Amino acid sequence: KGPDPALQFIKERMNSVKHKILILSGKGGVGKSTFTAQLGFAFASEESIQVGVMDIDVCGPSIPKIMGLEGEQVHQSLSGWSPVYVQDNLGVMSIGFMLSDPDDAVIWRGPKKNGIIKQFLKDVDWGDLDFMLVDTPPGTSDEHLSIAQYLKESEIDGAIIITTPQEVALQDVRKEIDFCKKVKIPILGVVENMSGFICPNCGAKKMAEDLNVKYLGSIPLDPRIGKACDMGISFLDEYPDSPACRAYLDIISD
Ligand code: ADP
Repeated sequence: KGPDPALQFIKERMNSVKHKILILSGKGGVGKSTFTAQLGFAFASEESIQVGVMDIDVCGPSIPKIMGLEGEQVHQSLSGWSPVYVQDNLGVMSIGFMLSDPDDAVIWRGPKKNGIIKQFLKDVDWGDLDFMLVDTPPGTSDEHLSIAQYLKESEIDGAIIITTPQEVALQDVRKEIDFCKKVKIPILGVVENMSGFICPNCGAKKMAEDLNVKYLGSIPLDPRIGKACDMGISFLDEYPDSPACRAYLDIISD
């Protein structure tokens, strides 16, 4: 079997994307999609920065809802699928746009998931992007292997790993770190989300030090984040003076 011809197409498409960042988490419900969406809003608050958010959580795509795009559909153009735009410089692509009913459970097997991810990379007409943020499912599954395999060809910047302070989630982070090492994806750092009180000798900071990966910061637990997500709006625009907003901005400036 020769090399997959899709790889060349993907490489060409991805040439116009400056920075490609994967967002990973060991467990579900730690706030990975929330983080991806808010990071997207934050980058795009600078008009000159072109941002794409790609949601490859095939079984539970939540990006359309939390970015205020529920019910939208993807359009086909001559140059491929057009992302759905939140604003001029913020485009989104999600499997959620292809389901007729948002409650449809997508039970796809490996090869089909792989196929859709390949198509997302090959056929979506992002135009020139400064940042592409890829929201992945929790854990390490088919989707991660596919995206790692395809993006490695075109210089992926790395992965940001989201966790909560709980030890169970931290244990899962270790697995994510191992995965990144195995597939040779650089780890940009670990973010602790929904932090309560800060204990210097535990939590993600300590773990990051122990595991020799960068600790990017903590985002406090703030119910208004959930509210902003329910409304599909940018938390950072809505509550610019909150500690959580400052935490997001600190992480981004890193
Ligand atoms: P995941 O993508 O990891 O499954 P989500 O992004 O869907 O997780 O977040 C899970 C829930 O936690 C959502 O209801 C979201 O609004 C909420 N959430 C995320 N981050 C925070 C935070 N820092 N403070 C409060 N609630 C949060």
